[in-house]
Amino acid sequence: MSDLVSHPIPGVGESLAAVVEISEPRAADLIDPAAELTRLTEGGVWAEGPVWLPAEGALMYSDVRADRGIRWSEAKSGEVWRSPNDHTNGNTLDREGRVLHCEHSNRRVARTEPDGTRAGLVDRYEGKRLNSPNDIVVKTDGTIWFTDPPYGIILPDEGTPAPQEQAGCFVFRFDPETGDLSVASDAIIHPNGLAFSPDESLMYVSDTSGGLDPKANHHIVVLEVVEGRRLEHPRVFKVMEPGVADGLRVDEHGNVWSSAFDGIHIISPGGTDLARIHVPEVTSNCVFGGADGRRLFITASSSLYTIHTKVIGSGVAARVLREAQASPARGPHG
Ligand code: MG
Repeated sequence: MSDLVSHPIPGVGESLAAVVEISEPRAADLIDPAAELTRLTEGGVWAEGPVWLPAEGALMYSDVRADRGIRWSEAKSGEVWRSPNDHTNGNTLDREGRVLHCEHSNRRVARTEPDGTRAGLVDRYEGKRLNSPNDIVVKTDGTIWFTDPPYGIILPDEGTPAPQEQAGCFVFRFDPETGDLSVASDAIIHPNGLAFSPDESLMYVSDTSGGLDPKANHHIVVLEVVEGRRLEHPRVFKVMEPGVADGLRVDEHGNVWSSAFDGIHIISPGGTDLARIHVPEVTSNCVFGGADGRRLFITASSSLYTIHTKVIGSGVAARVLREAQASPARGPHG
């Protein structure tokens, strides 16, 4: 389908047709094959970490390499809301609707309170500094799970070069109530994007080690969540091509919506390719949002894109969105 990936980059506010490539007919229940991809912003360097803010009707993301945070809404388009931005990468919502951040520069996970103040939650494991937290998700029990690959300490435009103190790159589980930080998995070379299955019995984690070493991995691993604390029995869920899977999300039916260099790949829980959304820039991540929760927002190099789908996301961030829909005047902060 090279005709699909040869699209020129459209102008801001412009849309591309013929971007959805259906591999399995059932994918038409997930996205209209005629859905168009609209470019919402421009001018970024490496857009990542999208999070939908239901209370504000806005989408926030990180322009990691330009070290700034961007906020988009229908009313204001894209605006720089924070610069410098601690080379923040992944963002997500906790159960209370507060935004959690992975900061490369500070090598920590941080949280923004409803009054706008931002403070670190955790930056060390067994007395040693984390590598550079990359992506983050909250479990329904309130625990915070994040990946810790080395990009922020080895790539000068993504953080501050420094020696790695940790013995590896782990998936961590952090309990904000007790302050307990534990290694959930040490089985992945460079863990990056992560998401639970809808029932939280499984976790999908991308391994982007192949981005720096062509002989290394460019796949998504699926692991079993054991006792709500550990990730065990890793197996390769999907080898991703072209490029690597960076960020990924799971929809309400358990399908995985993963980034790859050519856009978003939609993969069934059984590992079958269902469809692809071709994006004309190297794609890093996506998130479900919008007023109805069925818009997919896609970060890709210089830009934020959006496309309408027929499904909503799963997990805590999706639950916060549904709660905001149920009480739009009050919002998630009460
Ligand atoms: Mg990432």
